[in-house]
Amino acid sequence: MKDIQMVDLSTQYLKIKPAIDDAINSVFQSSTFIGGVEVESFSSELASYLNTTHVIPCANGTDALQIALMALDLKSGDEVITPSFTYIATTEVIALLGLTPVFVEVDPSTFCISPEAIENAITSRTKAIVPVHLFGQAADLNAIMSIANKHNLFVIEDNAQAIGSDFHLNDGSVQKTGTLGHIGCTSFFPSKNLGCYGDGGALYTNDAKLAKKIKMIANHGQEKKYVHDIVGCNSRLDAIQAAILRIKLRQLDNYIDARRAVAAAYDNAFAQIPGVEIPFRNVYSKHVFHQYTLKLTLYDRAALQAHLKDAGIPTMIYYPIAAHRQNMFSHFKLNDINLPISDELCSQVLSLPIHTELDEEQLSYIIENFKSFFK
Ligand SMILES: *Cc1c(COP(=O)(O)O)cnc(C)c1O
Repeated sequence: MKDIQMVDLSTQYLKIKPAIDDAINSVFQSSTFIGGVEVESFSSELASYLNTTHVIPCANGTDALQIALMALDLKSGDEVITPSFTYIATTEVIALLGLTPVFVEVDPSTFCISPEAIENAITSRTKAIVPVHLFGQAADLNAIMSIANKHNLFVIEDNAQAIGSDFHLNDGSVQKTGTLGHIGCTSFFPSKNLGCYGDGGALYTNDAKLAKKIKMIANHGQEKKYVHDIVGCNSRLDAIQAAILRIKLRQLDNYIDARRAVAAAYDNAFAQIPGVEIPFRNVYSKHVFHQYTLKLTLYDRAALQAHLKDAGIPTMIYYPIAAHRQNMFSHFKLNDINLPISDELCSQVLSLPIHTELDEEQLSYIIENFKSFFK
């Protein structure tokens, strides 16, 4: 049996090697390493996959979130509502820009930001909400968009873990996650569901004015070369990564199916174990399983991790410390905020290996060893 890894990018590469190698070679031959046809083609192919009008590529997912916030013309001290149970990048960029992160609770079953908690946190300084579609499952955008519309707030979707997921709106229509808020943000970090072979990211929007502003910000605040109207940054997806992503975008739906098949097998095997909660699946979105994350309510998580490690099975804790407890935010004086659900999740969650190349033999081996801990 092949070694079990959290992600297996090398086996995945070998399956598409000829196409990837050709694509990289053609970039070398053209010597257009920044911008050019690969970046343009990828942007328009991703826009068409997502059924959105504007895709603006950038250097990574954290930059995408930063640029999105920069595009909203917020003032220092304006409040941005964000879940505390998320990857740090979501919340870090808020503080980096001199805005105030307002950490709120997540739903204990979906792990995504709670609409009620958002509503309770709104003040006269609130300007934006950043929901995170955590582990590949969408936050409740029906509720979130209606709160945002009522209070005139921007919504920036952190879609880094859920690209390709479908969202079912109350009106019966279906759209890709990331295209329902004002701006969607994605990361192409190698282990993401659509990953490149380095760093990469993108923003998407249906709003032409925002798209123009985002494009300028990502390119030193210029529209015309050497004419800089606003303060921006330098954030680009390079041509080699774009060429790789064009190949991998064609596989994205297959990759999602493979992840969902692994999740279904795990669900089936673990659903009946008392004290082990399999991932909840909401009715309004398609879970694309960036992570397969269990909640352990009765067991010693460290002991289970050690048991699996002894069998050569890696596991991860996403995330061990909630954002509002991180020292980087200590100047916001968060001592009196109380987010017991987020804290409890940090102590209970465990993510198992899930990726596009996990084979039957590996899957059975993981399931068997997982179950043997509970005998
Ligand atoms: C990966 C990730 C990011 C950041 O993406 P990078 O490309 O690593 O900068 C942001 N938010 C979430 C939820 C992520 O999973």
